[in-house]
Amino acid sequence: MNRERSKQLYEESVNYLPGGVNSPVRAYKPYPFFAKKAKGSKIYDVDENEYIDYCLGYGPVVFGHANEQIIKDATNQLKLGTDYGVPSQKELELAQEVVERVPCAEMVRFTNSGTEATMSAIRLARGVTNRKKIIKFEGAYHGAHDAVLVKSGSGAIGKPDSPGIPEESTRNTLLVPFNDEDALTRMINDNKGEIACIIVEPIMGNIGCVPPKDGFLQFLREITEENDIILIFDEVITGFRLSRGGAQEYYGITPDLATFGKIIGGGFPIGAICGRRELMEQFAPSGGIYQAGTFSGNPMSITGGLSAFKILDMKAYKTLHDSGKYLRSGMSDILEKLDINYQINGVESMTQIYFTDVDVYDYKTAQTSDTEGFLKYFHVLLDNGVFIAPSQYECAFLSIQHTKEDIDKTLNAIEIALKKVVK
Ligand code: PLP
Repeated sequence: MNRERSKQLYEESVNYLPGGVNSPVRAYKPYPFFAKKAKGSKIYDVDENEYIDYCLGYGPVVFGHANEQIIKDATNQLKLGTDYGVPSQKELELAQEVVERVPCAEMVRFTNSGTEATMSAIRLARGVTNRKKIIKFEGAYHGAHDAVLVKSGSGAIGKPDSPGIPEESTRNTLLVPFNDEDALTRMINDNKGEIACIIVEPIMGNIGCVPPKDGFLQFLREITEENDIILIFDEVITGFRLSRGGAQEYYGITPDLATFGKIIGGGFPIGAICGRRELMEQFAPSGGIYQAGTFSGNPMSITGGLSAFKILDMKAYKTLHDSGKYLRSGMSDILEKLDINYQINGVESMTQIYFTDVDVYDYKTAQTSDTEGFLKYFHVLLDNGVFIAPSQYECAFLSIQHTKEDIDKTLNAIEIALKKVVK
């Protein structure tokens, strides 16, 4: 596959953009392909190559690229202005939709990214409880702000993941392995009365795809209630992907607060925090906990969200669920045929293959994977017209526009890649 123009653009970009990109995961070696356009389930590069897209902008594009409904609604909105700096009716409408769909949502605050949403949700939890400590799970990603950018590891207290984050910023961030009830109980008992919140991705989507064990989310709900700890579901990935009302509806567990991003902007930048009224009302200006943004609730992102909700009805979720099952069952057949004992994890339209024969249920087990082997697999898939995120620790997403034919082609590419890389 010729990617000469992408190579040239990358070589030029590194002189102007650090690492040639605007978000680190995009910079795989030797150089990333540069997008020219995307439509439906496909993305096209500047050298005119076509790829079936399972990265989907890292999750948001569940409705397919350049969706006609979103084009129509966003084009209409463009003519009406893109930034008002005063409230507009559509913000109310999107908030009402979120409240109708999401079990924990009584009120909503829109932000510009998932990062802002989790940062503000944690501030709210700390402000309301007047406690400093927070618990997050090893390997969980809640955005790029200091308090949660903590390397997982054996230490109970987090060390910053990046130079530039003072240790003071992460001293109050406690780490626990996902799916480990005993470790969590110990951590809470060791810090009685000091923990403001537990923040959790209901399905861990930043170490691949790791679902909660049966009863784990229920356990989180109970132990947080017993200890007056605020439970935050970070649904930036799972929100409106798993079901109409997110992972909390899917698993039947209602947190106190939830954060959203990605899908809820219909492809435009967005984030949201929602939750119980008496908590949410503590945000300024009704309460004293500061939270703000010039572009928060801007009409383009809000219009995108309203369009997305028009598209994401029960039929859409059935399509997503069926496609996920079809993809995983095809992958399992290939593994069996090739006698490869790798792990496939997945929930509905989220899937990941782990290059390990270990059952993956947390960060440590995910780390048993052969990440270099995975990267080779990624490259063979790319050369065969399939684009997944270039890391073992991301997740493959489906959209409602992926067809059976797309998935069959993908399975064919997966078989070629596994034969080449593993066998
Ligand atoms: N939370 C989770 C679970 C995420 O996966 C991400 C981003 O991938 C974020 C928060 C941060 O969202 P954003 O990139 O919009 O800031």
